[in-house]
Amino acid sequence: MGTGTSQGVPVIACHCDVCTSVDERDRRLRTSALLRTDGGKNILFDIGPDFRQQMLRQHVLALDAILVTHAHRDHVAGLDDVRSFNYVQRKNMDVYLNGEAKRALLRDYAYIFARHEYPGLPEAELHEVDAPFEAADEKIIPVKAMHKDLPVLGYRIGPMAYITDANHIAPEEIAKLKGVRLLVINALRKQKHFSHFSLSEALEVVEKVAPEKAFLTHISHEMGLHADVQRELPQGVSLAYDNLEIEI
Ligand SMILES: [Zn+2]
Ligand SMILES: [Zn+2]
Ligand SMILES: [Zn+2]
Repeated sequence: MGTGTSQGVPVIACHCDVCTSVDERDRRLRTSALLRTDGGKNILFDIGPDFRQQMLRQHVLALDAILVTHAHRDHVAGLDDVRSFNYVQRKNMDVYLNGEAKRALLRDYAYIFARHEYPGLPEAELHEVDAPFEAADEKIIPVKAMHKDLPVLGYRIGPMAYITDANHIAPEEIAKLKGVRLLVINALRKQKHFSHFSLSEALEVVEKVAPEKAFLTHISHEMGLHADVQRELPQGVSLAYDNLEIEI
C-alpha cells in the first residue's frame, strides 16, 4: 500500500534526485500493507494519512482487521476514513494494537470513542493485544520491538511477518520470527538514525531471521534511488515499493 517514511516520497518542496525521479518505485506513500489471506479476508497493517488513496488505488472493497504498529501519525492518521468501510460493512472496524497505541488513540481521537453517537462518526473497536490472538480467522503473533523509547508491535501471521518503525528487537522477540518465509522490515536510510533501523541494521535483523525473502519498507528519500540501492542488496533482500504484490 505504501513504503515511504513519515513525509512520504517525494517530500514536499524537495528537489533531490530521488524526489524528482521518474521511476514509479521512487514514489512512496506512507507505510502500510494489505494481507489477503487464503480465507479471502483482508488484514491491513497501519492506517496512515494516505489510507483513503491507498484503498482506492488498490480497489479494496472490504477490511476485516487493522493491525496498528504504533500511534505515530504516519501510521494512524487515516482512522477517520474507516467510516467508508463502516457504511458498507455495517459494523465496527476491529483494530488491534498495544497499550501505548490504545491510550494514544483514545486521547488523540477522543471524538471517535466518546459515545455520544453523532451520526457519521467512524466506528472502531480497539483490542489491546500482547499475546497471540485471532483476527480475520488467522492466528496472529504480536512481536514486540522498540522505536527508540516507544514500544511498537510487529505481527507474525503464519509464514510472514511485518515490522516497522523499530530500531531494536530483543533476541526473544527475534525468536518469534524464526521460520518465516517472508519478512517485511523497516530500513529508513543508509545513515544511522535514533529511532529507525538504518539499512545495515535492518540487514543484520534479516540475517538473524533468515527468511527466504525480505522486503525493506518505511524508506526515506535519503536512502537513494530505488534502482541504485536495489543493486547493492544481498540475495533475497529487496526494497519494497508501492503497489508491489507478493505471493506467499
Ligand atoms: Zn513511521
Ligand atoms: Zn528529496
Ligand atoms: Zn513511528
